[in-house]
Amino acid sequence: MLEQLRGIVQKVNAAKDLQSALNIIVHRVREALSTQVCSVYLLDTDINSHVLMASEGLKEEAIGHVSLELGEGLVGLVAKHAEPINLQDASNHPSYYYVEETGEEVFHAFLGVPIIHHRAVLGVLVVQHEDRRRFDEGEEAFLITLSAQLAGVIAHAEATGAIEGLSPSGHKVSDTVFPGISGSSGVAIGQAVVVFPPADLNQIPDRHTKNIEKEIEFFNACLNAVQDDMRELHNQLAGQVAEEERQLFDVYVRMLDDDALGNEVVERIKTGSWAQGALAYVAKEHVRTFEMMSDEYLRERAADIRDLCSRVLFYLQEEDPVTTEYLDDTILVSEELTPAMLAEVPTEKLKGLISAKGSGNSHVAILARTMGVPTVMGAVDLPFNQLDGKQIILDGYRGEVISNPSVQLLTRYENTIKEQDQLVAGLENLKDLPCETADNHRVHLWVNTGLMSDVMHSLDQGAEGIGLFRTEVPFLLSERFPSEQEQTKIYREQLEAFAPKLVTMRTLDVGGDKDLPYFPIEEENPFLGWRGIRVTLDHPEIFMAQVRAMLRASIGLENLQIMLPMISNVNEVNSATQLIKRAHRELLQENLDVKYPPIGVMIELPAAVYQTRALAKLVDFISVGSNDLTQYLLAVDRNNPRVANLYSAFHPAILNALYQVVLQAQGQKKPVSICGEMAGDPGAAVLLLAMGFDTLSMNASALLKVKSVIRSVSLDTAQDLLDQVMQMEDAQTIRSAVDLTLYNAGVDRLLRSSRTN
Ligand code: PEP
Ligand code: MG
Repeated sequence: MLEQLRGIVQKVNAAKDLQSALNIIVHRVREALSTQVCSVYLLDTDINSHVLMASEGLKEEAIGHVSLELGEGLVGLVAKHAEPINLQDASNHPSYYYVEETGEEVFHAFLGVPIIHHRAVLGVLVVQHEDRRRFDEGEEAFLITLSAQLAGVIAHAEATGAIEGLSPSGHKVSDTVFPGISGSSGVAIGQAVVVFPPADLNQIPDRHTKNIEKEIEFFNACLNAVQDDMRELHNQLAGQVAEEERQLFDVYVRMLDDDALGNEVVERIKTGSWAQGALAYVAKEHVRTFEMMSDEYLRERAADIRDLCSRVLFYLQEEDPVTTEYLDDTILVSEELTPAMLAEVPTEKLKGLISAKGSGNSHVAILARTMGVPTVMGAVDLPFNQLDGKQIILDGYRGEVISNPSVQLLTRYENTIKEQDQLVAGLENLKDLPCETADNHRVHLWVNTGLMSDVMHSLDQGAEGIGLFRTEVPFLLSERFPSEQEQTKIYREQLEAFAPKLVTMRTLDVGGDKDLPYFPIEEENPFLGWRGIRVTLDHPEIFMAQVRAMLRASIGLENLQIMLPMISNVNEVNSATQLIKRAHRELLQENLDVKYPPIGVMIELPAAVYQTRALAKLVDFISVGSNDLTQYLLAVDRNNPRVANLYSAFHPAILNALYQVVLQAQGQKKPVSICGEMAGDPGAAVLLLAMGFDTLSMNASALLKVKSVIRSVSLDTAQDLLDQVMQMEDAQTIRSAVDLTLYNAGVDRLLRSSRTN
């Protein structure tokens, strides 16, 4: 059974388009189950019907023509209940709906299973037989297993068609929505520019070549270069390895020959594809085919193909480096966006960001929010490499990407953009007003920064301090560890720009999803591994250089605070403080007039929540990192789109933890702030101020919205709301109660522009 399943999935995977995939399915399943009919019905949302897309056994003329409305017939019933139906005689079932063109009246036994992808029913896979018999348990299980495996392939093939403007049954479609997760609010309309890391065959976008002849010539030259390399290796290894093993290089040379892989690539270039795209396509097909093979030896050949093709890709990219052309309305698209990719786009051209991987709390999304760029993350079904150059709408409020937009939808979104701009302009007059509630309770609004451009934007928004300078951002953008001197310069810029306002610099927080290209950390479970303070305490030389740079930068300004990330116990704080004291002493010995800065601890781990009191005793301030705290308390990976719906800062457990932290810190008379994304959500901000947070630190783009909401409510109202929600048992109810309060305060228009955690 397993072999058959594997065989079918392998063939379907290698299919060139949706129709061929479906034809393979019906042919192979009919054979595997020795049944008389196998058909696939797919939901075409454009006509709201299940269309008979492929069949072996039913009349050919019915294929593509017969369709059943939603809920109609047994197929409709399977789809509606998202459950299999197994019948000895279909015609006796009340839902049986006879369609003459199919010629199915002679078939009695019926087994239909739903094809489900991400909770949505894409269609129904049906087998039928003349005999009056129920399909047995094994057959039913086989079909269910197969359907589950095929759903992803079908969804991908459908999505590819949709990008081209076609529904599954070939109707012209527009406004196809690809769901993702909101990364940064706002709407953008623009042209997709697909970016990809070098030497990765999986991420090469589809592009057209302008000159087919030249492209083939170029490809052949690169191919020959790799073949030469292989021959060279063959010669070099003479006498060093067995002759048999040396022969392998001859095999590689032949694999790349004109009549093998090389030829297939050339054929694809002839259809108009650029060489990199053609190579990636052919490589992926072959790798997939080999990987699915049952023979272990052959399966391992997949690695050879990948390696050979990567070598050719290397030459293609080396000889003709891709210079990305950023259009004036660039929507940057990638399988996995990185902060470095963002940094390369001229800011004035960057309208939006889309990442197929990652989630709303990935660091790249946080950076996007800091920059105020609408972003969709985790658009897992988006065939991102087919989007290059296409016009798309990005809805960062709902977390959606829309391809082939119709004129009507474009107009609607253009209006939203205008409203968005008006809303921002309407908040301008709040810049110089204090952040206090309607009954004059003062809260401080600080900002989170990473780049120098954030600093300027923040000052412009009336920020009162920096609550979190993510020092890893300049490290991420660099090609090696920045030297102490280089760091001093970067830190000085931030401190100077904000002086005399306080600037909280967090010591290097790498690990987790923040990998420095020059200091890779390979771990099975990076979020529970070597991260933040754990890394820097193990590398005191990195920590000391950074702290010295911070202290040097603060000379004469004295507005520095240092904050420690990922603290899980008091020993880490003691060790870090000792190092900071040592760095301070060293600078004093250089006769520098350096003031010892206030030190703070981030509460990001559940363990730290329960130790707030002990930690607060050791330091000068406490700051909650609610992004990680939510991740760790709810056991929800902040980067994983599959569980993004479970990631909610309004979960009662989170609110309880935050409240505990505030009470513990207040008990020690230590100021307490919050610098997670939650602080920038206007609704959450009301709860946080009622809890007693002294300072809320957020992205500059959220600052005026939060200020507007806080100035519209009284402390009493906020406290009443907090009392209510602390009695509630689930996140949705809490969110609704918060929204209602904002609605009553007349600031509900700001709800739309906030991220809903
Ligand atoms: C947090 O975890 O809330 C935080 C502010 O740190 P980061 O998002 O950089 O991990
Ligand atoms: Mg954190």
